[in-house]
Amino acid sequence: MIVDTHAHLDMEEYDGDRAEVIQRARDNGVDYILNIGCDLRSSLRSVELTEEYDFIYATAGVHPHDVKNINGTTYGELRKLLAHPKTLALGEIGLDYYKDFSPRDVQRQHFQKQVELAREMRKPIVVHCRDANDDIAAILSKYYPNNDGPPGIFHCFSGDEELARKALDMGFYISFAGTVTFKKAEALREVVKIVPGHRLFLETDCPYLAPLPHRGKRNEPSYVNLTAEKIAEIRGLTVEDVRRSTSQNFHELFGIGEGAKTGTITYRIRNSLYLNLTNRCTADCVFCTRLTHPVVQGHNLKLEREPTAEEVWRSIDDPKKYDEVVFCGYGEPTLRLNAIKEVARKIKDAGGRVRLNTNGHGNVINKRNILPELAGLVDEISVSLNADTSEAYDEICRPLPSYRNGIFDKVKEFIAEARKYVPEVQVTIVTQQSGVDERRCEEIVKDQFGVKYRPRRLDLVG
Ligand code: SF4
Ligand SMILES: [Zn+2]
Ligand SMILES: [Zn+2]
Repeated sequence: MIVDTHAHLDMEEYDGDRAEVIQRARDNGVDYILNIGCDLRSSLRSVELTEEYDFIYATAGVHPHDVKNINGTTYGELRKLLAHPKTLALGEIGLDYYKDFSPRDVQRQHFQKQVELAREMRKPIVVHCRDANDDIAAILSKYYPNNDGPPGIFHCFSGDEELARKALDMGFYISFAGTVTFKKAEALREVVKIVPGHRLFLETDCPYLAPLPHRGKRNEPSYVNLTAEKIAEIRGLTVEDVRRSTSQNFHELFGIGEGAKTGTITYRIRNSLYLNLTNRCTADCVFCTRLTHPVVQGHNLKLEREPTAEEVWRSIDDPKKYDEVVFCGYGEPTLRLNAIKEVARKIKDAGGRVRLNTNGHGNVINKRNILPELAGLVDEISVSLNADTSEAYDEICRPLPSYRNGIFDKVKEFIAEARKYVPEVQVTIVTQQSGVDERRCEEIVKDQFGVKYRPRRLDLVG
């Protein structure tokens, strides 16, 4: 499954073979297409397409190129189109200072007016921004100051990291088009890396911007798969991971399609199989969405109850099929030490490789040194340290009150002990947390423990 969140199938480029293009999209696994309005005529054509095809949805809005043609009846017409049940968003709207087809002050005026209409009608917006980063951010921050529900999508993102961060802070999703495949798009590919999986979309923006190897030719929705492949490569994931998470995002933003089911015990990311033992944790990290949005790469990890060791084992088809089987969960697995031991033994007996992801509280939780018990069962252990000082640790990981006393030193002890019993040990930190000196973290890990250090960007779980 995959979604093209930005297509212009109403355009005359498809007049000769529209039905074939749409069929090709279906044949290539495209589940939904969001057809985007640029003016009243194309918005109406988009709505008409939704009547013809059940898997096509529409938006309605006036593109910055066309705002110069807005007249006294435009907003009334726009309201009618937005009221259609298959019109999911208002857009595309925004600022385009690259082409400047409409005067800039007129662009800004109608961008604001349409944002106001979207807020009134409770519709997400689809934002078009070209060479107008500062003005777009300034206007949007007036309307979406504090991330109170997703305001919409930045489409065909071409801005820099700074704009991406501002958009993410406001709660926007960021959508990438075929431009990420272009040879000279190194800077854009860097931006792809910072967008969390639960805020990512893919699009074609067809008929424009065909991805490689079709660059320069007419684009079409089936090519969204080529962009998915590139995004997967950039993010170190599989195409399935990217398809799953972007489809889940489409469901979360618009309520279309099937959302991921809760109660997931095993889930696959890349060629690793993860085991979700618990949602409980002895910490409450500032960046953790375990309690608010327990969705990782499109897998919903909310558990109604914790699975038994037997249930966990039964949910693993064949441990040898995977590069590794990882005790992770959206919670702290060592709260269920017995289950880890029981299942890990079976995985090892079946020829699998075992990793344990932990916050390093295991010895405090179980009131003994648990590492000798893991010898021979766990091949690799990954401990999140996340800070270079005890104060920063408390502020970022926010351990439960009863775990707060000297816990940072206990985590470091855990790492030192792990080295004695587990062949591979790595220490991770989630990057870009305020109050953390990442260089110092790296020094501690390498000099003090002599183990692998892995800074990881938020949400690139695994
Ligand atoms: S240790 Fe892991 S599961 Fe626990 S709060 Fe932190 S990020 Fe979430
Ligand atoms: Zn656009
Ligand atoms: Zn467009």
